[in-house]
Amino acid sequence: MCPACHELCMTWPLTTPLALSAALRLARGFVADGTLAVDADAASQPMPPFAEVEPQGPWSDDLEYHFHCRHCGERFTLFVETHQGSSGQWFVEP
Ligand SMILES: [Zn+2]
Repeated sequence: MCPACHELCMTWPLTTPLALSAALRLARGFVADGTLAVDADAASQPMPPFAEVEPQGPWSDDLEYHFHCRHCGERFTLFVETHQGSSGQWFVEP
């Protein structure tokens, strides 16, 4: 297991604003310290830059961000549909 990103290797339901906020904060920290790279081109819809997403909100209706670990290449997705009552997930891409 990659020591750099093992903390992120999980399936994390993002169904509350608190969970979403925590996930954004965590991802932001890993991006800031250089562990994660943001794959801006991988989103299926246009998204503002991840750096502009405030961890505490307010958020746009949909959030879709893809990342990969710079150390091992593991890929992660943060996907949230807030307009449908906050259904979302952080997950490791299969
Ligand atoms: Zn890794």
